[in-house]
Amino acid sequence: MPATNWTPSSWQSKPAAQDVVYPDPEHLSRVLAKIKQLPPLVTPSEIERLRHQLSLVQRNEAFLLHAGDCAESFDACTHENISNKIGLILSVSLILIWGARLPVVRIGRIAGQYAKPRSSAIEKIGDREVLSFRGDNVNGLSPDDRTPDPERMLSAYFHSTTTLNYIRGLLSSGFASLDHPRDWSLSHVRSPGLRKEFERITEGLQDALGFTRTIGLGWENTPYEKGGSRSVLGEVDFYTSHEGLMLNFEEAMTHAFTLPDSSKPESEGPRPTAFYNTSAHFLWIGDRTRQLNGAHVEYFRGIRNPIGIKVGPSMQDEELIRLLDIVNPDKESGRVTLITRYGAAKVEKHLPGHITAVQRSGHPVIWICDPMHGNTLTSSTGLKTRHFGTIISELTACIRTHAGVGSRLGGVSLEFTGELTEDGFSVTECLGGSMGLAEEELGLRYQSFCDPRLNFEQSLDVAFLISDHFKR
Ligand code: PEP
Ligand code: MN
Repeated sequence: MPATNWTPSSWQSKPAAQDVVYPDPEHLSRVLAKIKQLPPLVTPSEIERLRHQLSLVQRNEAFLLHAGDCAESFDACTHENISNKIGLILSVSLILIWGARLPVVRIGRIAGQYAKPRSSAIEKIGDREVLSFRGDNVNGLSPDDRTPDPERMLSAYFHSTTTLNYIRGLLSSGFASLDHPRDWSLSHVRSPGLRKEFERITEGLQDALGFTRTIGLGWENTPYEKGGSRSVLGEVDFYTSHEGLMLNFEEAMTHAFTLPDSSKPESEGPRPTAFYNTSAHFLWIGDRTRQLNGAHVEYFRGIRNPIGIKVGPSMQDEELIRLLDIVNPDKESGRVTLITRYGAAKVEKHLPGHITAVQRSGHPVIWICDPMHGNTLTSSTGLKTRHFGTIISELTACIRTHAGVGSRLGGVSLEFTGELTEDGFSVTECLGGSMGLAEEELGLRYQSFCDPRLNFEQSLDVAFLISDHFKR
């Protein structure tokens, strides 16, 4: 059912947290009018297909991997960075498939993840006070370039398009084929143990897939939106996402389409329409912008895309149910993913209450754990970091808590990067992992301009831990 009293611009009458003020409103209008005319990045059929696949996750028939950078930057839009990131997402998903014996739905924080919410609008740099950096689609990282410029939204559109075009190209030319795992920058994994373990899995999967092909298990007669025929973006399904923070941009990318429903003949009358945000398959509401009466919740309630909601320690049980009633009044499976991010020490305090409240309400949600955002700390050398051990504690506490109240963790949301330094080394932004990254090593190859990300090896470590857990 379409949302009542909703339009793509109805959010404008509500207070918007993290709002960006542009010095020249006419310039902003011109840019938005241009974006409105530009073609979609993703299609309604792809979005419906993701909704269908997420309904499988909600029913425990698939696992969700949501992963990528905290924020993308225009400068990092290079062929190496994109292929390394996709390679890492594919590697992690294979390890999960192997352990959980379930299909994995892959959603990248990619091709549009530019805007960042900030805890303060002003930042102190030396003895200067400047506007905070809000992401490449708003202003520049340089302290001299902090005035919001609407042209950056247009640039974000084109960088997203370029990124997605390259992803589509990579995947449709066999990059995801199991004959290629060594191309997924795995050659940079220095630990022989990790490499051996990964090779054992790909060989096993290759055998299993060969067998499936031989006996001809196919989906040929199933409609595309229900998971049939060719995958989204080539040999494997891969979807894009970003935080739906910049509502002007999201509104400009929102268009009405008839619902693609290949099972209904035209003769049964006109098909209903729905509003799709065509800039990404999946969008999420951040922990700082999920106010019940705020602009973001208003915008999100009307789009047909599957959505995520970040759930932090300040979320009340009752508030969570009211939020679900607003964004999913018809209780549709696959529509809402709750992304919990409490901090390792707070899971046991908040998660059981949240789960039982949702169970009582009858809302069909997917629960995934973001073990990154509640566990950020500052190292003694002043770098923003996260400890691998704490990330694993939050993950295992989530798995345990779900099991304890008759629920199940449906996936993970990670900030990781396959980015390498010019000399081919992994970044050093998070502490620990099988490589035992120490505090004094953090400064060696710290490249993030936003939150610290797990590097290639540490991401495989996390994948093996989850995979082992689900095997039991
Ligand atoms: C993020 O996912 O990068 C983020 C800012 O998360 P949160 O809204 O949970 O703080
Ligand atoms: Mn982040």
